[in-house]
Amino acid sequence: MSLSASPLIIALDYPSLDAALCMADQLDPRRCRVKVGKELFTRSGPNVVEALHGRGFEVFLDLKFHDIPTTVAGAVQAAAEQGVWMVNVHASGGRRMMEAARERLEINNLTTHLIAVTVLTSIERSDLTEIGLNVEPLEQVERLAALTQSCGLAGVVCSPQESSRLRQTCGEAFLKVTPGIRFASDQSDDQRRTFTPNEALDAGSTHLVIGRPVTQAEDPMAALADIEKTLVIPPPGH
Ligand code: C5P
Repeated sequence: MSLSASPLIIALDYPSLDAALCMADQLDPRRCRVKVGKELFTRSGPNVVEALHGRGFEVFLDLKFHDIPTTVAGAVQAAAEQGVWMVNVHASGGRRMMEAARERLEINNLTTHLIAVTVLTSIERSDLTEIGLNVEPLEQVERLAALTQSCGLAGVVCSPQESSRLRQTCGEAFLKVTPGIRFASDQSDDQRRTFTPNEALDAGSTHLVIGRPVTQAEDPMAALADIEKTLVIPPPGH
């Protein structure tokens, strides 16, 4: 499977550069991308991105920027100038923030995929009420996904539970990047409701973020190969 066809993104959730690279060295950059999140990036900074690029990986820099438009546009530009494949912002930062980020990439001919987080899956109805939003989480997810699309972003991070609805409302080409993936036989760790890789793709997810089922496996590449064997990529128009 060529990289562009692989939907797999392995989450390198480690507290140090060495630990992250030790895992990356057990993975094949032709068969997956990797995700760098807030803890790893805050500890090791651009060095980790550079080291992963040096090993041939495409990187999703998952820093979920949320600030005034100029600040977010600058941060997204900085990420893109490091050559990352994907970067994200919070859709709740609003239209001007998202458009400023997207325009900044365009003006500078940067092709990094810009996506947005809608509602964090850790947020429940009561949390929304407490911050003044009297709305069901799914309704808010749909609203923010539509806003993200109308701001010209490439897609959203969402739960596989939301993918089928967003495929209806935002279409196939709009990226749906989903964590919460487990095999039926796996323990679910702290994920509440999980989908298998195929269930998520079937629901409309375009990319799967997978952490512990691969990174805590005795042989991570064998775990990744097991996942690949189960993947049936839905045909276009599905
Ligand atoms: O180990 P696991 O497969 O649960 O890792 C999932 C990854 O996706 C982690 O990096 C986690 O931070 C991220 N994530 C998540 N749920 C969200 C958003 C991001 O699990 N709603």
